[in-house]
This record gives sequence, structure tokens and C-alpha cells, in this order.
Amino acid sequence: MIEKGKCALCGGCVATCRLLDYGYLSVDFSEERPVIREGQQCPPDCGYCYYQCPRVEKPELRAGREEMYEVASTDEEIRKACQDGGAVTLLLAYALDDAIVEGCITVADKGEWKPEVQVAMNKAGLIKGAGSKYTPAATLTGIADAILRDNLWSAALVGTPCQMSSYEKMFVVGRDTHNAHNFSSHIKLRIGLFCMGCYSYEKLMKGHLEQEHGIDISEITKLQISGDVLHVYTGEKELLSTGIGDIEDYKRDGCKVCEDFTGVFSDISVGNVSSPAGKSSVIIRTDFGREVFEGALEHGYIEATPIAKSGADLIHRLMKEKKEAGIAEKERRKKRLMEQLK
Ligand code: SF4
Ligand code: SF4
Ligand code: SF4
Repeated sequence: MIEKGKCALCGGCVATCRLLDYGYLSVDFSEERPVIREGQQCPPDCGYCYYQCPRVEKPELRAGREEMYEVASTDEEIRKACQDGGAVTLLLAYALDDAIVEGCITVADKGEWKPEVQVAMNKAGLIKGAGSKYTPAATLTGIADAILRDNLWSAALVGTPCQMSSYEKMFVVGRDTHNAHNFSSHIKLRIGLFCMGCYSYEKLMKGHLEQEHGIDISEITKLQISGDVLHVYTGEKELLSTGIGDIEDYKRDGCKVCEDFTGVFSDISVGNVSSPAGKSSVIIRTDFGREVFEGALEHGYIEATPIAKSGADLIHRLMKEKKEAGIAEKERRKKRLMEQLK
């Protein structure tokens, strides 16, 4: 089983498990890794979960585009409910309305900001999944929900860069022999979210916000990391702003070895770095991503202008810094292990 400090909690192994129907594998958030159901033995010839995991072996990056835009919402309801420009929600709304996909795998708030993977099939569902949660969700388990439970033929997947790389791995092993369900042909659109790290729910929400700062979690309406600051809001009122340096200890260990900031394995990447308030930064990465983006523009779902060179430079700098930090942390851990083995 994968080491706790490496797991991205993406849920890819759970969705790929050969014995998925029997609930053999699940992500245990307190253990911070997947666990096999107590008392069960895996078939000796299996290991599908192992081959699926992007932290065992990284997928290979295919050549693609990198076109950057600042995007604003033309839909007032979505703009109000969303973070920044609402680009993710609007691209998904267009994909649903134009029948490109039948459902969208996103993460909603289960109550008290606990993330819950959902399959949204209309605008209300999309709005429920809008906004960043910053605590982990095993989003790839939503692929199994969309296809096996909801009988969808086509779905969009929205997730963090680790989840995009896990889906890429699913796609690649799906063409090989280690994917029991061949889900990969059903995912039509991949939207990756810029990510600098996610935090333990217990430590950030319960420990830091509730206990240390006395914030009633159920009153929070928006969490947003902008630059180096986490902002916590209820409606228009800011309840707290805290430097991300202050919450570094609550960051998951699996995030500290992560090298991908923008989600290079997506059709379209979206984040808030480099764009003014009220707008999203969007990177188109594939021909299909371009097609969906142009469709959303033509049908009036979004407005877009190319990102200024300074903005593109900032995104590239952060991509480089995150990659270097992930590699350095892996090296540190390797060195530590060697010393322990001496
Ligand atoms: S070894 Fe096979 S049956 Fe066991 S958890 Fe992995 S995929 Fe599932
Ligand atoms: S990184 Fe994802 S695929 Fe790998 S063990 Fe963790 S949850 Fe499973
Ligand atoms: S930092 Fe990496 S591992 Fe952590 S949530 Fe973001 S993309 Fe996933």
C-alpha cells in the first residue's frame, strides 16, 4: 500500500479497484491513504490499484497547447455564487447545455465545509459545487458514481492537478490491462484547478478556524486563497485573513511532494493567479479544450481577453517554483530515509 505521506487522496485507485462493487477499497481521510476493507484479502494476481496510482509512476505528458486568457462570467447568478470569474462553472454549464456531457463531477459542500464528491447535472448542481474547498476530496470516485450509479455516457471531471494526473493514468492503464472498468472513455472534458496545496479538514477547519479563531464554520460562505493569504468570508464580510505561512503545518504531507501547479493533464486549467478580482485565469491545453472554450465564448457564457505577458510570466514562475519545491522535498525525504537506514 502507498505511503501515507505520498498519497494525493485522489480516489483513482478506488475507482479502478477490480472489486469496486464489493467496496474493497476506500480512501480513509484520517489515515490519509486508501485502505482495504477489514478482513478482506485481495486476489493474488490483481494490483490494478497499484498500476493506476500516479504517485507510484507519473503519467507521461503529451504535447499540447498553452493559451492563456482572463475570463469573466456573463451570468450574474453564477458570478455571485462563484470564486473570481466563475469560469469553471460557466464552462461546465455550456458543456451541459450543449450536450457535450451529461453530468459534471465536482466537489460540493456537505455541510460545515466538508467536501463531498457529486455528479451535477444542472445549473443548481453546478452552483452547489462552485468555489474552492481547500480540504481533500477523493474526486475520482465520482467517475464510478457517474457511470455505474447514474448510467452516464459522458461526464466532465473537475479536479486538482493530482486528480488530473490520476485520471491520465486511468486513461493510459485503461488501454492496457490494469483497469477493470474502462471508465476512461466516458470522461469527455477535464478541467484542472490551480493548486498550491490542500489542508487537513480537522486541522484547518476545526482546529485553526473553529477552535483557534472562534469561527462558526457553518456561517462561512466563501474560502479563498489569493496570493499568500487565506480569506474567510460570510457574505460580503471578511471573518479572517491569515497568511498561508501560518497554516503551512496543516498542509497535507502528500501535497508537499507535488510538482504540478496548474493541472498539466487537463483540457482546460483554471485558477485565480494573474487575473484581477472578478476574473479567472484560464489555460487552454488541448484542441478539445479550445473547442469547448470557443463554444462557451460564441454562445455568450463567458467573455475573454488574452492574459498580459506579466500574468503569464507569474503563472510560469509559480509552476516552476512548485515543481522545484516538490522535487526538493522528495530529495529531503530520500536523504532522511538513507540516514535512518545507516
Ligand atoms: S489489489 Fe485489486 S482487489 Fe485489491 S484493492 Fe487493489 S485493485 Fe482492489
Ligand atoms: S494517490 Fe490516488 S491512486 Fe494513489 S494511493 Fe492515493 S488515492 Fe490512490
Ligand atoms: S498540492 Fe498537489 S497533491 Fe495536493 S491537492 Fe494540490 S494537486 Fe493535489
